Amino acid sequence: MNVFSDITELRQLRKSWKTERVVLVPTMGALHEGHQQLIRHAQKIGDKVVVSIFVNPLQFGPHEDLNAYPRTQHADLRICSDLGVDMVFTPDNQTLYPEGLENLTTVVPPASMTKQLCGAYRPGHFAGVATVVLKLFNIIQPTMAIFGEKDAQQLSIIRKLVKDLNVPVEIIAYPTVRSAEGLALSSRNQNLKTPEAIAAAQTLFKLLSRIRELAQGSVEAPEAATILEQAASEILNGSAHHLKLQYLEVVDRQTLQPSPKLTPNTKVLVAAHVDNVRLIDNIDIV
Ligand code: AMP
Repeated sequence: MNVFSDITELRQLRKSWKTERVVLVPTMGALHEGHQQLIRHAQKIGDKVVVSIFVNPLQFGPHEDLNAYPRTQHADLRICSDLGVDMVFTPDNQTLYPEGLENLTTVVPPASMTKQLCGAYRPGHFAGVATVVLKLFNIIQPTMAIFGEKDAQQLSIIRKLVKDLNVPVEIIAYPTVRSAEGLALSSRNQNLKTPEAIAAAQTLFKLLSRIRELAQGSVEAPEAATILEQAASEILNGSAHHLKLQYLEVVDRQTLQPSPKLTPNTKVLVAAHVDNVRLIDNIDIV
Protein backbone atom coordinates (compact mmCIF):
# COMPACT_ATOMS: atom_id res chain seq x y z
CA MET A 1 0.00 0.00 0.00
CA ASN A 2 1.26 3.47 -0.83
CA VAL A 3 1.17 5.89 2.09
CA PHE A 4 2.02 9.51 1.36
CA SER A 5 2.20 12.50 3.64
CA ASP A 6 3.75 14.51 0.83
CA ILE A 7 1.77 16.00 -2.07
CA THR A 8 4.48 15.79 -4.76
CA GLU A 9 5.04 12.06 -4.34
CA LEU A 10 1.31 11.41 -4.25
CA ARG A 11 0.80 13.34 -7.48
CA GLN A 12 3.49 11.29 -9.25
CA LEU A 13 1.76 8.02 -8.47
CA ARG A 14 -1.69 9.48 -9.19
CA LYS A 15 -0.48 10.60 -12.63
CA SER A 16 0.70 7.10 -13.45
CA TRP A 17 -2.80 5.68 -12.91
CA LYS A 18 -4.39 5.38 -16.31
CA THR A 19 -7.66 4.11 -14.88
CA GLU A 20 -11.00 5.90 -15.19
CA ARG A 21 -12.48 5.44 -11.76
CA VAL A 22 -10.49 6.72 -8.77
CA VAL A 23 -12.58 6.91 -5.60
CA LEU A 24 -11.64 9.05 -2.61
CA VAL A 25 -12.85 8.30 0.92
CA PRO A 26 -12.02 11.39 3.02
CA THR A 27 -11.78 10.68 6.78
CA MET A 28 -10.42 12.07 10.01
CA GLY A 29 -9.09 8.64 10.97
CA ALA A 30 -9.87 6.53 14.05
CA LEU A 31 -11.37 4.24 11.45
CA HIS A 32 -14.37 2.13 12.48
CA GLU A 33 -16.72 -0.25 10.71
CA GLY A 34 -18.62 2.70 9.16
CA HIS A 35 -15.46 3.94 7.43
CA GLN A 36 -14.64 0.38 6.40
CA GLN A 37 -17.99 -0.01 4.68
CA LEU A 38 -17.39 3.23 2.79
CA ILE A 39 -14.01 1.85 1.67
CA ARG A 40 -15.50 -1.49 0.57
CA HIS A 41 -18.18 0.34 -1.36
CA ALA A 42 -15.49 2.50 -2.99
CA GLN A 43 -13.72 -0.68 -4.08
CA LYS A 44 -16.95 -1.95 -5.65
CA ILE A 45 -17.57 1.15 -7.72
CA GLY A 46 -13.95 2.12 -8.50
CA ASP A 47 -10.68 0.78 -9.90
CA LYS A 48 -8.45 2.58 -7.40
CA VAL A 49 -9.31 3.70 -3.88
CA VAL A 50 -7.63 6.51 -1.98
CA VAL A 51 -8.29 7.10 1.73
CA SER A 52 -7.30 10.41 3.26
CA ILE A 53 -6.71 10.69 6.99
CA PHE A 54 -6.49 14.22 8.34
CA VAL A 55 -7.92 15.83 11.47
CA ASN A 56 -8.62 19.21 9.94
CA PRO A 57 -7.99 22.05 12.42
CA LEU A 58 -9.86 24.49 10.17
CA GLN A 59 -13.21 22.85 10.95
CA PHE A 60 -12.86 22.91 14.76
CA GLY A 61 -13.95 25.91 16.82
CA PRO A 62 -11.68 27.31 19.56
CA HIS A 63 -13.58 25.46 22.33
CA GLU A 64 -14.11 22.21 20.47
CA ASP A 65 -12.45 18.81 20.79
CA LEU A 66 -9.54 19.13 18.30
CA ASN A 67 -7.04 17.89 20.88
CA ALA A 68 -9.33 15.22 22.31
CA TYR A 69 -10.23 13.88 18.85
CA PRO A 70 -9.05 10.22 18.74
CA ARG A 71 -5.92 9.59 16.68
CA THR A 72 -5.03 5.97 15.90
CA GLN A 73 -2.91 6.20 12.76
CA HIS A 74 -1.05 2.94 13.22
CA ALA A 75 -4.29 0.93 13.49
CA ASP A 76 -5.86 2.97 10.66
CA LEU A 77 -3.04 2.09 8.25
CA ARG A 78 -3.38 -1.57 9.22
CA ILE A 79 -7.10 -1.47 8.43
CA CYS A 80 -6.49 0.20 5.06
CA SER A 81 -3.78 -2.28 4.19
CA ASP A 82 -5.94 -5.28 5.20
CA LEU A 83 -8.76 -3.93 3.03
CA GLY A 84 -6.42 -3.52 0.05
CA VAL A 85 -6.65 0.28 -0.23
CA ASP A 86 -4.40 1.52 -3.07
CA MET A 87 -3.21 4.78 -1.54
CA VAL A 88 -3.50 6.53 1.82
CA PHE A 89 -2.89 10.26 2.15
CA THR A 90 -1.82 11.30 5.66
CA PRO A 91 -0.81 14.96 5.44
CA ASP A 92 0.08 17.03 8.47
CA ASN A 93 -0.98 20.63 9.10
CA GLN A 94 2.23 21.96 7.57
CA THR A 95 1.56 20.10 4.32
CA LEU A 96 -2.03 21.29 3.92
CA TYR A 97 -1.67 24.73 5.49
CA PRO A 98 1.99 25.74 4.99
CA GLU A 99 1.15 29.41 5.52
CA GLY A 100 -1.10 28.78 8.52
CA LEU A 101 -4.85 29.24 8.88
CA GLU A 102 -5.01 33.01 9.22
CA ASN A 103 -4.32 34.14 5.71
CA LEU A 104 -5.99 31.36 3.79
CA THR A 105 -8.28 31.40 0.78
CA THR A 106 -11.39 29.54 1.96
CA VAL A 107 -14.61 28.16 0.50
CA VAL A 108 -17.68 29.66 2.16
CA PRO A 109 -20.88 27.65 1.64
CA PRO A 110 -24.12 29.69 1.48
CA ALA A 111 -25.57 30.89 4.79
CA SER A 112 -28.92 29.31 3.85
CA MET A 113 -27.25 25.90 4.38
CA THR A 114 -24.95 26.71 7.30
CA LYS A 115 -26.99 28.94 9.62
CA GLN A 116 -29.13 26.06 10.94
CA LEU A 117 -28.57 22.64 12.57
CA CYS A 118 -24.86 22.01 13.34
CA GLY A 119 -23.88 25.26 11.63
CA ALA A 120 -25.77 27.28 14.25
CA TYR A 121 -23.59 25.79 17.00
CA ARG A 122 -20.33 25.46 15.05
CA PRO A 123 -19.70 28.78 13.28
CA GLY A 124 -17.11 28.35 10.51
CA HIS A 125 -17.26 24.55 10.71
CA PHE A 126 -18.68 23.97 7.23
CA ALA A 127 -16.35 26.52 5.64
CA GLY A 128 -13.52 24.48 7.18
CA VAL A 129 -14.99 21.26 5.81
CA ALA A 130 -15.67 22.67 2.33
CA THR A 131 -12.16 24.13 2.13
CA VAL A 132 -10.35 20.94 3.08
CA VAL A 133 -12.57 18.80 0.84
CA LEU A 134 -11.86 21.03 -2.16
CA LYS A 135 -8.14 20.90 -1.36
CA LEU A 136 -8.26 17.09 -1.15
CA PHE A 137 -10.12 16.96 -4.47
CA ASN A 138 -7.49 19.18 -6.10
CA ILE A 139 -4.60 17.17 -4.68
CA ILE A 140 -5.95 13.68 -5.33
CA GLN A 141 -8.13 14.40 -8.37
CA PRO A 142 -10.61 11.57 -7.78
CA THR A 143 -13.45 10.87 -10.19
CA MET A 144 -15.76 10.01 -7.29
CA ALA A 145 -15.82 10.67 -3.54
CA ILE A 146 -17.90 8.90 -0.90
CA PHE A 147 -19.52 10.62 2.08
CA GLY A 148 -21.69 9.15 4.85
CA GLU A 149 -25.34 10.11 5.29
CA LYS A 150 -24.65 10.27 9.02
CA ASP A 151 -23.23 13.74 8.37
CA ALA A 152 -26.31 14.85 6.46
CA GLN A 153 -25.68 18.60 6.50
CA GLN A 154 -22.07 18.05 5.41
CA LEU A 155 -23.21 15.84 2.53
CA SER A 156 -25.71 18.46 1.28
CA ILE A 157 -23.10 21.21 1.53
CA ILE A 158 -20.53 19.18 -0.42
CA ARG A 159 -23.05 18.40 -3.14
CA LYS A 160 -23.75 22.14 -3.40
CA LEU A 161 -20.02 22.99 -3.46
CA VAL A 162 -19.39 20.58 -6.32
CA LYS A 163 -22.37 21.93 -8.27
CA ASP A 164 -21.69 25.63 -7.70
CA LEU A 165 -17.93 25.45 -8.37
CA ASN A 166 -18.16 22.92 -11.27
CA VAL A 167 -15.90 20.46 -9.49
CA PRO A 168 -15.55 17.34 -11.69
CA VAL A 169 -16.08 14.83 -8.88
CA GLU A 170 -19.16 12.64 -8.52
CA ILE A 171 -20.44 12.59 -4.94
CA ILE A 172 -21.69 9.24 -3.66
CA ALA A 173 -23.73 8.96 -0.45
CA TYR A 174 -23.48 5.92 1.81
CA PRO A 175 -26.15 5.00 4.42
CA THR A 176 -25.40 5.33 8.13
CA VAL A 177 -23.73 2.28 9.65
CA ARG A 178 -24.99 1.48 13.17
CA SER A 179 -24.17 -0.77 16.10
CA ALA A 180 -26.59 -3.60 16.94
CA GLU A 181 -28.30 -1.18 19.36
CA GLY A 182 -28.73 1.43 16.65
CA LEU A 183 -25.99 3.83 17.74
CA ALA A 184 -24.51 5.52 14.65
CA LEU A 185 -20.84 4.53 14.56
CA SER A 186 -18.53 7.48 15.10
CA SER A 187 -14.87 7.95 16.00
CA ARG A 188 -16.09 10.05 18.93
CA ASN A 189 -17.91 7.00 20.41
CA GLN A 190 -14.47 5.95 21.73
CA ASN A 191 -14.77 8.85 24.16
CA LEU A 192 -17.99 7.45 25.72
CA LYS A 193 -16.34 6.06 28.82
CA THR A 194 -19.13 4.57 30.97
CA PRO A 195 -22.04 2.16 30.39
CA GLU A 196 -24.40 5.02 31.34
CA ALA A 197 -22.88 7.28 28.68
CA ILE A 198 -23.20 4.55 26.05
CA ALA A 199 -26.81 3.91 27.08
CA ALA A 200 -27.57 7.64 26.83
CA ALA A 201 -25.99 7.76 23.35
CA GLN A 202 -28.15 4.83 22.27
CA THR A 203 -31.33 6.75 23.13
CA LEU A 204 -30.70 9.09 20.18
CA PHE A 205 -31.57 6.47 17.58
CA LYS A 206 -34.49 5.26 19.73
CA LEU A 207 -35.75 8.84 19.74
CA LEU A 208 -35.43 9.20 15.95
CA SER A 209 -37.05 5.80 15.35
CA ARG A 210 -39.98 6.66 17.61
CA ILE A 211 -40.49 9.95 15.76
CA ARG A 212 -40.56 8.10 12.45
CA GLU A 213 -42.97 5.51 13.85
CA LEU A 214 -45.35 8.18 15.15
CA ALA A 215 -45.17 10.05 11.82
CA GLN A 216 -45.87 6.92 9.83
CA GLY A 217 -48.78 6.05 12.10
CA SER A 218 -50.51 9.35 11.36
CA VAL A 219 -53.06 9.59 8.56
CA GLU A 220 -52.13 13.16 7.62
CA ALA A 221 -48.68 14.74 7.86
CA PRO A 222 -48.51 15.60 11.58
CA GLU A 223 -47.21 18.76 13.22
CA ALA A 224 -43.52 18.20 13.82
CA ALA A 225 -43.48 20.00 17.19
CA THR A 226 -46.21 17.77 18.67
CA ILE A 227 -44.58 14.50 17.60
CA LEU A 228 -41.06 15.58 18.66
CA GLU A 229 -42.34 16.52 22.10
CA GLN A 230 -44.24 13.25 22.53
CA ALA A 231 -41.27 11.11 21.41
CA ALA A 232 -38.81 13.06 23.56
CA SER A 233 -40.97 12.68 26.68
CA GLU A 234 -41.34 8.93 26.05
CA ILE A 235 -37.73 8.12 25.20
CA LEU A 236 -35.45 10.60 26.94
CA ASN A 237 -36.79 10.21 30.49
CA GLY A 238 -34.05 8.82 32.65
CA SER A 239 -31.09 9.73 30.44
CA ALA A 240 -31.25 13.47 31.16
CA HIS A 241 -28.29 13.30 33.53
CA HIS A 242 -25.87 12.25 30.76
CA LEU A 243 -27.64 13.57 27.66
CA LYS A 244 -27.96 17.24 26.70
CA LEU A 245 -29.87 17.76 23.46
CA GLN A 246 -28.44 20.53 21.31
CA TYR A 247 -31.10 20.43 18.61
CA LEU A 248 -33.86 18.14 17.38
CA GLU A 249 -35.24 19.45 14.10
CA VAL A 250 -37.30 18.49 11.10
CA VAL A 251 -36.07 19.78 7.73
CA ASP A 252 -36.72 19.25 4.03
CA ARG A 253 -34.43 16.45 2.84
CA GLN A 254 -33.13 18.35 -0.18
CA THR A 255 -32.91 21.94 1.00
CA LEU A 256 -32.38 21.43 4.76
CA GLN A 257 -34.90 24.20 5.38
CA PRO A 258 -37.13 23.78 8.48
CA SER A 259 -40.42 21.97 7.94
CA PRO A 260 -43.36 22.47 10.32
CA LYS A 261 -44.82 19.09 9.26
CA LEU A 262 -43.39 15.60 9.21
CA THR A 263 -43.85 14.50 5.60
CA PRO A 264 -42.15 11.77 3.50
CA ASN A 265 -39.81 14.45 2.12
CA THR A 266 -38.42 15.37 5.50
CA LYS A 267 -35.55 14.27 7.68
CA VAL A 268 -35.20 14.52 11.46
CA LEU A 269 -31.77 15.52 12.69
CA VAL A 270 -30.45 15.47 16.21
CA ALA A 271 -27.29 16.65 17.95
CA ALA A 272 -26.54 16.06 21.61
CA HIS A 273 -23.72 16.04 24.09
CA VAL A 274 -23.32 12.85 26.09
CA ASP A 275 -21.08 13.99 28.92
CA ASN A 276 -18.51 15.92 26.83
CA VAL A 277 -18.91 13.96 23.61
CA ARG A 278 -20.85 15.58 20.78
CA LEU A 279 -22.94 13.14 18.75
CA ILE A 280 -25.15 13.61 15.71
CA ASP A 281 -27.64 11.38 13.93
CA ASN A 282 -30.56 11.62 11.51
CA ILE A 283 -33.36 9.60 10.01
CA ASP A 284 -35.48 9.93 6.89
CA ILE A 285 -39.25 10.03 7.18
CA VAL A 286 -40.34 7.70 4.39
P1 AMP B 1 -15.10 11.25 9.77
O1 AMP B 1 -13.84 10.47 9.87
O2 AMP B 1 -15.97 11.13 10.98
O3 AMP B 1 -14.90 12.65 9.27
O4 AMP B 1 -15.94 10.51 8.64
C1 AMP B 1 -15.41 10.28 7.36
C2 AMP B 1 -16.52 9.87 6.44
O5 AMP B 1 -17.15 8.69 6.95
C3 AMP B 1 -17.64 10.93 6.34
O6 AMP B 1 -18.13 10.97 5.02
C4 AMP B 1 -18.68 10.40 7.30
O7 AMP B 1 -19.99 10.82 6.98
C5 AMP B 1 -18.53 8.91 7.10
N1 AMP B 1 -19.03 8.19 8.27
C6 AMP B 1 -18.63 8.33 9.56
N2 AMP B 1 -19.35 7.53 10.37
C7 AMP B 1 -20.23 6.87 9.57
C8 AMP B 1 -21.26 5.91 9.80
N3 AMP B 1 -21.55 5.47 11.01
N4 AMP B 1 -21.96 5.46 8.73
C9 AMP B 1 -21.69 5.92 7.48
N5 AMP B 1 -20.74 6.83 7.20
C10 AMP B 1 -20.02 7.30 8.23
